[in-house]
Amino acid sequence: MTVVVDKTKCIGCGACVMECSLEALDIVDGIAVVDPKKCQDMGNCLKVCPTNALSLPNQPQPNKPQEELDPKAGSKFNFKDPLPDSVQDYAQGNEKKTIRAQEAPVAGGTVWSGVWVIIEYNNGKVAPVSWELLGEGRKLADAIGCGLCGVVTGHLVDTVIPEAFAYGAEKVYVIDHPVLKDYRTEPYAEAITSLVRKYQPEIILMGATSIGRDVFPAVATKMQTGLTADCTVLGIDSGTKLLQQTRPAFGGNIMATILCRTSRPQMATVRPRVMEMPERVEGRTGDVVREEFSFNESDFRTKVLEFIPSDAKSAFLDKAEIIVAVGLGIGAKRNMVLAEELADVLGATLAGSRGAVEAGWLSHDQQVGQSGVTVRPKVYISIGISGAIQHLVGMETSDFIIAINNDPEASILKVANYGIVGDLFQIVPALTAEFKKRLQHGVAN
Ligand SMILES: Cc1cc2nc3c(=O)[nH]c(=O)nc-3n(C[C@H](O)[C@H](O)[C@H](O)COP(=O)(O)OP(=O)(O)OC[C@H]3O[C@@H](n4cnc5c(N)ncnc54)[C@H](O)[C@@H]3O)c2cc1C
Repeated sequence: MTVVVDKTKCIGCGACVMECSLEALDIVDGIAVVDPKKCQDMGNCLKVCPTNALSLPNQPQPNKPQEELDPKAGSKFNFKDPLPDSVQDYAQGNEKKTIRAQEAPVAGGTVWSGVWVIIEYNNGKVAPVSWELLGEGRKLADAIGCGLCGVVTGHLVDTVIPEAFAYGAEKVYVIDHPVLKDYRTEPYAEAITSLVRKYQPEIILMGATSIGRDVFPAVATKMQTGLTADCTVLGIDSGTKLLQQTRPAFGGNIMATILCRTSRPQMATVRPRVMEMPERVEGRTGDVVREEFSFNESDFRTKVLEFIPSDAKSAFLDKAEIIVAVGLGIGAKRNMVLAEELADVLGATLAGSRGAVEAGWLSHDQQVGQSGVTVRPKVYISIGISGAIQHLVGMETSDFIIAINNDPEASILKVANYGIVGDLFQIVPALTAEFKKRLQHGVAN
């Protein structure tokens, strides 16, 4: 007995090949074939087949009722049939045509096609980075000449669908199931992967939130493809149409642009507030594709017992409109009062560099940068921060940057709209006093 492939249903996606730990499956001429010498009827391949093309004789397919497995039905490839030539070659040890040996997928082609954004919906809220990524996804899709789709997985998610259209999705794939009510890695990874296998998008993006950072590696592993985490810039190579995924590398000392040439989909996460929020257009509509989810609660090992919301300050830092950020230049904790007074007058949120956090003047959730929070306020005032690349990647997309530093060569001055070169102990109190005076008198500028 061995796994049987229904050639009329197989779409040659290769999901079964990737799932089979015994290497008993391969894609030959676009159809899955089973090596009877290796197959041990474990049945894992059946679970991942998006079109139910695989079955074990006398056992029901996971998603289909028993009657549809009638061996007389249609042109099912039965284990009693003579093996195709390709399988005989395979069994005789002739060169094996693995799917990985096939030509690299064509970027911008029709087999793996479309840009997808996974819309993070948890506890009744959408992570705003999902909309930022729809804005970015639009640019990528236009550069390739393909469609832009949103993906919503969860339970009772219908309110999210019109929002996804409003932020630019042309089509929304939905898996709505009680098992997906609370976020858990396994069911979410299964749900997203099942859609990816079936519809084969070329690019998928997700926010580098705690959920995105957790589920995307699991999806990438299942798809045996690459994933670039925490990208700060995305683009499309005009010649190859490959996704250019740029992120800090080697401790932030270089910005590396990474390509995923031979595997699909191309996967990237992007931190909140790095990309611009697109315009929301009320009333925009598109296609909704609803898919079944074939798993049950008993299929998963983790259970959510209780949800306790975090009260960490960092939850607000990335939404702050005005930030006063402090670096080692302020010299000592007692001098923090200078920054606090300025922040008070402006109604700003206090943050800082890793230097200031490591000195114990601020808590880690107030750290801006590569290993802290990415911010995009309207105004970012930096006090005594040098502007190391690891700091800049977390704040350089702020709308307006004012930097105070006594070193005219400091890197922060290169990204600042206004650079004030001088001693912060003179400049900051003077600014605080002037802002106080103007705000008291209601002067707007
Ligand atoms: C893997 C990795 C991840 C990292 N992640 C982060 C991160 O997320 N965020 C982050 O910030 N850093 C991060 N860093 C650290 C980063 O490389 C820098 O070391 C750090 O940002 C320096 O902090 P700073 O600018 O406060 O201090 P410094 O580099 O020491 O700069 C102090 C500045 O204050 C100025 N100054 C001194 N006195 C005065 C004065 N009286 N008036 C005006 N100006 C004055 C000086 O000219 C100087 O430019 C990371 C590093 C690594 C390797």
